[in-house]
Amino acid sequence: MKKTVTLSVIFLLMLTAVLPGHLLAEELIIYSARNEHLIEPLFEKYEKETGVSIRFITDKAGALIQRLKAEGSRSRADILITVDAGNLWYAAQQGLFSPISSPVLEKNIPAHLQDPGNLWFGFSVRARTIVYSTERVDPGRLSTYRALGDPEWKDRLVLRTSKKVYNQSLVAMLLSEYGIDETEKIVRSWVGNLSSAPYSSDTKVMEAILAGQGDVGIVNTYYFGRLVRDNPDLPLALFWPDQNGTGVHINVSGAGVLSTSSNKSRAVNFLEWLSSPEAQKVFAEANMEYPATSGIETHPIVSSWGTFQPSTMNLAKAGELQAEAIMLMDRAGYR
Ligand code: FE
Repeated sequence: MKKTVTLSVIFLLMLTAVLPGHLLAEELIIYSARNEHLIEPLFEKYEKETGVSIRFITDKAGALIQRLKAEGSRSRADILITVDAGNLWYAAQQGLFSPISSPVLEKNIPAHLQDPGNLWFGFSVRARTIVYSTERVDPGRLSTYRALGDPEWKDRLVLRTSKKVYNQSLVAMLLSEYGIDETEKIVRSWVGNLSSAPYSSDTKVMEAILAGQGDVGIVNTYYFGRLVRDNPDLPLALFWPDQNGTGVHINVSGAGVLSTSSNKSRAVNFLEWLSSPEAQKVFAEANMEYPATSGIETHPIVSSWGTFQPSTMNLAKAGELQAEAIMLMDRAGYR
């Protein structure tokens, strides 16, 4: 008996040595710029449901894109997940993505949240909107992003640095709406209204307003959500601008299948799963974002902000106009 067991073990070991790894276990390798604590619960859920095992690394978008470029055709990665359409667009420009043909994704993800060439799809939506001090600002005085350059906000505006892709995408949206000259005027008027040098994070923007170093700012909604989750009574509120015009600037967390993937259909399958109601709820709720698909409940804190009209500019535009936006902000003195 003992001998049989030993022989079987030896046989199994030999088999393992001969068979390539992917025949023994279905596997996906994912590079994610979305934080581990936000993405890991989803990976675990998918593994449990499908038996596919997911290996992943997380890092900043720029570092992951550089790494993929360096790995070139030797890369074993299947999927890149990252935030901001500007980053997705850049990865696509670098030739990292393979086009996805998926009726499921076409049906589930609205057209403006996906690359026109199907190189990437958005899976959750964040709004970049106005935040204001409820102690010093009458929301009736707020209207548009552009109006933050009006004289009444002189020395009252707080912004995050123009180096952040979020602001580059916001200015790209303004560019598509107003054109170069008008957008430059708007950004100059913002700079003229700044109460201090730009801050390094959205959270610092809100802390500055709370400390009385300014009255209005622009932030991504989930940063506001994190702040009020811990301190529900903060004298800060969100305002939805441009509701009679272009709508609120939104962006996505999204993903694409890498051209080096040797398991493209498996990779597409994972992305299709990400667009399913159960995954959408988890993906959006984890970071207090909005689901990319319709009919999904949002986090209670997110629901409490009410509904708004989002911009429906195709987010690939944010990428196309990114270089223009960066040069414009530089000319306008926005650091
Ligand atoms: Fe962020």
